[in-house]
Order: sequence, then structure tokens, then C-alpha cells
Amino acid sequence: MKESIEERIDRLEASGIIDLHFDLPMDLYEKRDRKNLLEAEFLSELDAGNIGAVGVAIYIEDRYLPETALRVALDQIARLYTETAASQRFAICKSYHEIQKAREAGRIGLLITMEGVEPLGTDLDLLRVFYELGVRSIGLTHARSNAVGHGGAFAATGSSPDGLTSFGRDLVRECERLSVIIDLAHINPAGFNEILSITTKPPIVSHTNVRRYYDIERNISDAQIKMIGERRGVIGVNSVLVSPREDESTMDRYIDHIEYIANLIGIDGVGIGFDFFEFIYRQWPESRQKELAAKFTTPHFIPDLRNHAHARNLTRRLIERGFSDRQIMKILRNNWLRIFEELL
Ligand SMILES: [Zn+2]
Repeated sequence: MKESIEERIDRLEASGIIDLHFDLPMDLYEKRDRKNLLEAEFLSELDAGNIGAVGVAIYIEDRYLPETALRVALDQIARLYTETAASQRFAICKSYHEIQKAREAGRIGLLITMEGVEPLGTDLDLLRVFYELGVRSIGLTHARSNAVGHGGAFAATGSSPDGLTSFGRDLVRECERLSVIIDLAHINPAGFNEILSITTKPPIVSHTNVRRYYDIERNISDAQIKMIGERRGVIGVNSVLVSPREDESTMDRYIDHIEYIANLIGIDGVGIGFDFFEFIYRQWPESRQKELAAKFTTPHFIPDLRNHAHARNLTRRLIERGFSDRQIMKILRNNWLRIFEELL
């Protein structure tokens, strides 16, 4: 009997999709007066989308900088541990083996990541502390500058011409020594080049888009994509910056980004970094949404790819566009797994 498309989706997603960027800790922290938030607000969408593992990013909003950055980061991690301990369906994972084991046990693996190293201040010893707490992937900056370097501009030009500070270089070397994955999402072009010049392991870009379709320095150029490919790294495709135009922010354009990267460096170089944050954005007052638009850009959420429950729509469309089973499984899971197996 011929396999239906829905059966084929089930089979391709059976091992669980890996999404390497989700702003979960910040939401858990802001709602710290509530219990069992993971199960109450996130589990049903994650299950509906067959999500097997998620990179959950410690991120510190401007209003906490600089004094309380460290405390808020620790509190975000504390919330992850408390919430995970209260549920049979989640597990904090620190290694490739633990990610595999979580799936076998029917749990969703949470890989703790950091988006911007503001919590460390200028204290390299704290990197070791966060490592012990489970942080396994670090992006040096968000859009702003900090003690290690500069974020890429949400414009075609205008990022700082400077690379890393000497503290930034020390931090990168220490990440590589500890086997913390170095995430090049958000870093400015000069910092991007410098990180690659002082490291040897495969780099990742957890959530980004190609400049071919959205030409801002926060996204990545063809030359940058090729540099990642040469080092056998993986680029996670972001769902919220696929186009500056709302009418072009579609599932097909999302897949165009996947295809574009695969055409440049091969299918082994592309994965998923959805960056779903509509749930946070919708909680903000209009004034704050306007602030985001003025500072960065107005995010355009893809109608049928707005949250984890929609991941199935992506798999279906990949099939319709002619991607093979092997290619789809690499995009959805196996490329990230290869990085984890090699580095964690
Ligand atoms: Zn980001």
C-alpha cells in the first residue's frame, strides 16, 4: 500500500525535530510566579510539531543591564531546572548521548544556550560556572555591543568595523577548549571573521537568514555561508527574518533560505533555528512593539509557521517541493545531531 503524505511526515519526524533557537528561559523568568509553565503553555505545541530537542537561550533584556544580568541569567537557568524537574516530559541535556536518551524516554531535550555573554561581565571564570550549569552553546552578542564584541546591524551596512576585544578572544578560545559550541548568530561581520580565524572546530549559526533575501548585516552573506560550509558547520534557518516584506514572509520563502544555503554548501550545512517569539511579542504593549520596530525591524511572522505546532507544515512543504527523505531528515534533525556528536 502506498504511503500517504501524512504517514511520510510521521516517519520523517519520528526521531524528533531539533530547533536550535527558542527564547524560552526569558518567558519562564518573567512568569516566575507561576508553576508548571512548560507543561501548561509549551508542551502541546512542541508535541504537535514532533519537536525532539530545543536550544533554549538565556537572554538578558536591556532593562536588566548591567547590574542584574548575572542574577537574571542564573534565575532563568533555575527556572529551567525547576520546571524540568516538575515534568516527566522534559530533560535538560548536556551531551549528544543525553539528547538521544531523552528522545528514547519520550522527553523533549532542552539544550541550554546563551545569546549574548552579558551575564559573564568580564569574568572568564564565570564561563566555567555556566558550563557546569549546562550551557553548551554560546553566541557572543545579540544586536548590541558588549565586553566581547559587537552585534550585526539590522541594516545593509553600519555594523562596527571592529572584531572581538581581547576578552572576547580569550572567551572564544575557552569555549573551544571546554567544547562549548560557538554560535555565530548576530555577531557583526568583523567578529564573525575573527572567531573563525582563532577556532578550528565546526561553527554554527543557530538562527539566521541569508542576505540574498533579507539584506541586513544581522543575516549572513554568501561568503559567510561558504566559510561555515568549509568548516563543516551548520546554519539554522530563522522564521522571523525571511523577508523585509510581509507579503513575502511565507513558508515557501522560508524553504528558499534552506535551498539557498544547501545550494551553496550542501545539504549537510543547513538546519532549523525557528526563533519563534510571537508568543512573547504578543504579550508586549504596543509601545514596546513599536520600540522593537524602531530599534531593529518589524518581525513578519509566517502565517503557517508561527509556532512549534506548525513544524509539520514545513515537513509537508519540503516533501511537496521535492526534497528527498534523506535531505529532510538532515534538515530537521541529523545535521544538528552531527554537531552535537562531534562537539558535546
Ligand atoms: Zn536572536
